[in-house]
Amino acid sequence: MQKELLSHPVFAMAAEQFDQVADFLQLAENVRERCKWPKRLISVAVPITLDDGTTRVFYGHRVQHHLTRGPVKGGLRYHPSVDLGEVAALAMWMNWKCALMDLPYGGGKGGIACDPRSMSRGELERLTRRFTMEIMPFISPEIDVMAPDMGTNEQTMAWITDTYSSRTGYLVPSIVTGKPLGMQGSAGRTQATGHGVAFLSSNALHKLGINLSSTTAIVQGFGNVGYHTARTLSAYGVKILGISDVSGAVWNPRGIDVAALRDYATAHGGIKDFPGADAIDPEEMLCQPCDVLAPCAMERTITAANAGRLQCRILAEGANGPTTPEADRILEQWGDVFVIPDILCNAGGVTVSYFEWVQNFQRFQWTEHEVIGKLETMMQRAFEKVTSFAERHQVSQRTAAQAIAIKTVADAKSLRGLFP
Ligand code: NAD
Repeated sequence: MQKELLSHPVFAMAAEQFDQVADFLQLAENVRERCKWPKRLISVAVPITLDDGTTRVFYGHRVQHHLTRGPVKGGLRYHPSVDLGEVAALAMWMNWKCALMDLPYGGGKGGIACDPRSMSRGELERLTRRFTMEIMPFISPEIDVMAPDMGTNEQTMAWITDTYSSRTGYLVPSIVTGKPLGMQGSAGRTQATGHGVAFLSSNALHKLGINLSSTTAIVQGFGNVGYHTARTLSAYGVKILGISDVSGAVWNPRGIDVAALRDYATAHGGIKDFPGADAIDPEEMLCQPCDVLAPCAMERTITAANAGRLQCRILAEGANGPTTPEADRILEQWGDVFVIPDILCNAGGVTVSYFEWVQNFQRFQWTEHEVIGKLETMMQRAFEKVTSFAERHQVSQRTAAQAIAIKTVADAKSLRGLFP
């Protein structure tokens, strides 16, 4: 299994990052092995009836990286390219993210290989409910708590809650996070990840002595994370020059009207041909001059092919794993780009997910003001922890973030010891 995982490019990338940091930390071999490999890999066949009456079997996966510090926490992704290796890599990154933010969780991730854009609401509901049934023995509020990710949303979480609660016989809101507000979701959860990306970008701009009101940004991806990143940056007074999604990229040197783009994308299924901006090649867009470049779509978009051509001051990683290790080396050598690494930059989502889980146990709802205030306090603390570690040890921000996180997990494993 380990060999199979390592043959997957995304898992190999997560493992390579881990090895580098474990070397830096001089982790003892036994703890190192226990931190690196996932605890449970679950793959299930998910047969459903399609709207045309035929049956189709989809494949779904859930990886629970470790349960040492609490239940695993992580998103559920619907995308055609989902496979076990990708899910395992994302679960590993979730580990480090939860540990860095000091949340009482291990990392998990799940996904189903499907194209949600081509499926009806009924098909998506049947797929979600059947997947939940298939993994029912492995999830609970104390074992594994899912949340939305690419291709899933709060409706998906509502279906999971209902399916799980139908089995227990009573409502269990804490089985997932990212639920609709009417089903005990948390205020502030929808915008939390993008808000965090924008908030840390403003912290980084401040650290570099750049005045927020004269800055520009480019955002790749216009889903949950990309939209809220662009919206919040825009509200801070940052000019959004370019935005892309899977349909194409748009560019306006005077600044894109993010709300109008959102309305257009909702009406047309994508941002292509938005009348308030020009078209631009999506790859070229990433290499245009700007203060903040925020990749908020897929992993492995900043590669050796484009890293040397980036003209941003800050790379704010809204997506998980958007920068390959080769690209990282180029950026480090070059030294001009301030990287806010993914496990820090996009941790707003899991942090407010944690708040939602706590509120569900409390049977109490916090206000949006409380949620965002607590989120900013925790993100600021983590940002300062990472930047001061990086400065003290003269390492990259990514190494600093992962080192703090991996050491937290390694220490917990050492304290708990190894059950014979
Ligand atoms: P989403 O499905 O809401 O949006 C994804 C966006 O990316 C869409 O606009 C899609 O069109 C675009 N996209 C896909 N392929 C693209 C390409 N090749 N070029 C440009 N755009 C492309 O997903 P999301 O929830 O916004 O997640 C985006 C990323 O952020 C993922 O890496 C996810 O793991 C990560 N993330 C999400 C959250 C969260 O709370 N949603 C939290 C942490 C990290």
